[in-house]
Amino acid sequence: MSEPHAPDRYAVIGHPIAHSKSPLIHGLFAQATGQVMEYTAIEAPLDGFSTVVQAFRAQGGRGLNVTLPFKLQAFELATDPLESARLAGAVNALKFEGDRIYADNFDGLGLVNDIQRNLGVSLAGKRVLLCGAGGATRGAIVPIALQKPALLAVANRSADKAHQLKRDFAAHVALQTGGFEDLAGESFDVVLNATSTGLTQAALPLPAGVFATGALAYELVYGKGLTPFLKQAQAAGATHIADGVGMLVEQAAEAFAWWRGVRPDTRPVIDRLTVPLV
Ligand code: NAP
Repeated sequence: MSEPHAPDRYAVIGHPIAHSKSPLIHGLFAQATGQVMEYTAIEAPLDGFSTVVQAFRAQGGRGLNVTLPFKLQAFELATDPLESARLAGAVNALKFEGDRIYADNFDGLGLVNDIQRNLGVSLAGKRVLLCGAGGATRGAIVPIALQKPALLAVANRSADKAHQLKRDFAAHVALQTGGFEDLAGESFDVVLNATSTGLTQAALPLPAGVFATGALAYELVYGKGLTPFLKQAQAAGATHIADGVGMLVEQAAEAFAWWRGVRPDTRPVIDRLTVPLV
């Protein structure tokens, strides 16, 4: 009789990491698809990311999800960064095969899949506004641009950072960039809050009228209920609001499919993790 083989090992690595939903999500995916795998959470010391990754690899680890603050260091460590990771300059998933370290970034694709498949809002021909110019926005620009919106604008507290994105992504998309004050008189069909204000409960100085009638307002932060951004959107008449729980689960599903070659059903996991927007 042959011995059952040990489960393949995966983990999420970050600092801090105790809050991470990834072990729960991947555990549910593995159960639903019958994959023999183990998925844990690893807190690496702030100055020890690469040492911890190499030790995990040496012990037979097959892949990692990478979260704050290591997404840039993961890019540096990769031998084979795939296109989404190169464009974002950041990595949220690693795959180890022999001496190669493949790296990808599924955050932007997870966001687009959530908006289009789960929320049923097509981005084609729409006026889309990304608030924020950090890592999440960098990862979202090309996946959104590929859906052919009529306009993709990026507004940020420090307008210079938004203008830098216009230059960095010029080969892929003609971004409209500026500060929040530059949005006066404009309206958008899809408004995404990719700033970290959902965590700090700060409001964005968005001019009245930024939300078109029937707009989708999407807060990338998840599990915080009605954030100031979502309240602003509701008050301005946005009829469709969502937080980033679907994005989280969809990016996890992309990583799972990349590692295991099996696509899990995301709906039951999203339903399980959803915190009502009240
Ligand atoms: P980041 O790189 O640290 O960027 C933070 C952004 O927030 C910057 O544009 C910053 O503007 C802006 N900001 C911070 N405080 C602000 C304030 N008081 N007023 C206006 N703007 C402010 O963060 P990130 O990685 O892009 O992540 C952004 C958010 O997305 C995070 O909160 C994260 O939780 C969420 N996220 C969710 C998922 C998901 O799966 N649902 C995935 C990735 C990220 P300045 O440039 O002016 O400082």
